[in-house]
Amino acid sequence: MASAPSTAHLSNLRFHEITSAICRTIHPSTSLTVLTANNLSPKTQGWSISDSSALYGLDRWGDGYFSINQQGHINVHPKGLKTESLDLMELVNELEGRNLKLPLLIRFDDILEDRLKRLHAAFDNALHQYNYQGNYQGVFPVKCNQKRYVVEELVSCGRQWHFGLEAGSKAELLIALSLIDDPQALIICNGYKDQRYIETAILARQLGRQPVVVIEQADEVERIILASREIGAAPLIGLRAKLSSRSIGRWGTSIGATAKFGLSVPDILKTIEKLRAAQLLDDMKLLHFHVGSQINDIGILKDALQEAGQIYVELSRLKAPMGYLDVGGGLGIDYDGSRTASAASTNYSLQNYANDVVATIKECCQANGVKMPTLVSESGRSIASHFSVLVFNVLGTSAVSSHTPTQLVDECLPVHNLRETLSEIRTISKDSEIDISQLQEAWNDAIKFKDDVLSAFRLGYVGLVERATAEQLTWACAKALLEHLPSDAKIPAELKTLRSALAGTYYANISVFRSAPDAWAIQQLFPIMPIHRLNEEPTQLGHFADLTCDSDGKLSSFINNGSTKPLLELHEMSNDKEYVIGMFLVGAYQEVMGNLHNLFGSTNAVHVRLNANGSYQLDHVVRGNTKSDVLEAMEHDPEQLLERLRIASESAIQNGTLKISAAQRLMEHLEGSLHQSTYLHR
Ligand SMILES: *Cc1c(COP(=O)(O)O)cnc(C)c1O
Repeated sequence: MASAPSTAHLSNLRFHEITSAICRTIHPSTSLTVLTANNLSPKTQGWSISDSSALYGLDRWGDGYFSINQQGHINVHPKGLKTESLDLMELVNELEGRNLKLPLLIRFDDILEDRLKRLHAAFDNALHQYNYQGNYQGVFPVKCNQKRYVVEELVSCGRQWHFGLEAGSKAELLIALSLIDDPQALIICNGYKDQRYIETAILARQLGRQPVVVIEQADEVERIILASREIGAAPLIGLRAKLSSRSIGRWGTSIGATAKFGLSVPDILKTIEKLRAAQLLDDMKLLHFHVGSQINDIGILKDALQEAGQIYVELSRLKAPMGYLDVGGGLGIDYDGSRTASAASTNYSLQNYANDVVATIKECCQANGVKMPTLVSESGRSIASHFSVLVFNVLGTSAVSSHTPTQLVDECLPVHNLRETLSEIRTISKDSEIDISQLQEAWNDAIKFKDDVLSAFRLGYVGLVERATAEQLTWACAKALLEHLPSDAKIPAELKTLRSALAGTYYANISVFRSAPDAWAIQQLFPIMPIHRLNEEPTQLGHFADLTCDSDGKLSSFINNGSTKPLLELHEMSNDKEYVIGMFLVGAYQEVMGNLHNLFGSTNAVHVRLNANGSYQLDHVVRGNTKSDVLEAMEHDPEQLLERLRIASESAIQNGTLKISAAQRLMEHLEGSLHQSTYLHR
């Protein structure tokens, strides 16, 4: 894999053709026929939906938003209530019926709203429980998901709590300033800031907004002073502290002496004196810190809170008016449902988090006689992960063939020996105590005989057919051995690899680089599971390969209750039926980080809302990139590309190598395809 492709070109994209506010009410009952057709396979004896539930763990990571229904489909509970649900498979079928083909990104706006509700409820509880003399007022970090309908939705749902936005760049600031028109909501301005960024914030304050310019670099204070002189007004000022508390995990370097952002304590003191000298100290209102995304261990946060609390107290003593303490982002997601401090999980709940923030800051302020600040958090991941589900179909599978090949006449000795080995393995009793060394010996024999056949092939003594027979027999041995192997840790390493050697590759109609870039870039785990057939036992083990011609374009690490597994339990595919997989918790960071590797563009996206009567409506349909879009993003002119081919086919017609009808067919394929999705159709 070459270096990470730049995302700069994305700005050139005519991103989508937006068909907004379709607002069509569709009753679930309309697709009943599709449902039964999909559900022909009888429930496997001894396998129930609760087995699937346990296997894929959706009760553990789903946070009440997902379950499995009697038809073996995933049910989505957009408001987190068991009583209201949407059948995800049914929804997909209906969307496909409306020409919104897979892969699809389905955004449940009710979930987004519910996340906001839960966040505010958790802080409300904590404020009451600890009798905190102040409020909580959150902001959403725009960088987590900048999509128009997502930010708009958050702003409109968040109005009741004066929920604000956090911007990390000038472009994000434009979104925040324009969308937030609630004079009480905060607009936190983070990131690198030049003079214009700061001037914009000052002017927006005069417009009636509340932007807080957070000083992240020591030299920013000079620019704030200059800009304030220039305009004759000051911005609201914040300060980001570089904490020295311990940190771990993927984003652990966000704090500590080498962190990219924040002021060390000596720099904080200098900054305060400069602001005082410039008579701007009265606008110093907020202390900010951010320990990094996805805090796994609550202990890290507790330490940071204590340190930040003390700095807050000291700033008050230095006569900065203060009033806000912003604890940054980092509120984690339990991707694997293990409730542990492992990378894909958190050892705390949302309520634990809110309690710790409130209790620690209260204690600190109370002990020092300082007025308790309004608490601000910048939770992105925790708000935006659950509401998006990426749904994709599998185009086909491949696996090594482990069927027993028919006997050839005059089979050579090593092939004959392989057959013998296979029947020996098959006669080992499954009831008696398993003798691992006997299994290992059988496998060693099989490998030796296969190698003998390969040597004979190289020397020209056996032909292709016999070689193929030997390979197939070896895999048949492996398969037979697996049936005897216990699934515990005592198995020798060599035998353990058998399982993955026999596993199937499921070809997924997505680009990992486009739709789940963190799965590739930082090995992030997302829950992945079929969204139907969950009343059937998944008899296969497999991993996913995506559409790109890149060996990194795969999904081969799956959640496993605190650890990972390289293979996922999947169903056997039948050619004529679609097999549909969901990738969950993908609402944060994935869309904007995704890139156009191999020119796979964005997928179709839909915003779904549940209606009171149990039906749903599509609030927005955002068309994915067409081939024309992605070609233009690379500075190609699609029309010119077509024109060159038109000329080439004209001369091929002249030369008699291409029939007119064939030329026409070629041009039809190319032209039609330009305005279609970059993904494959079954
Ligand atoms: C990225 C970022 C956030 C969001 O972090 P999450 O872990 O998504 O909650 C908040 N604040 C700052 C300063 C950030 O850089």
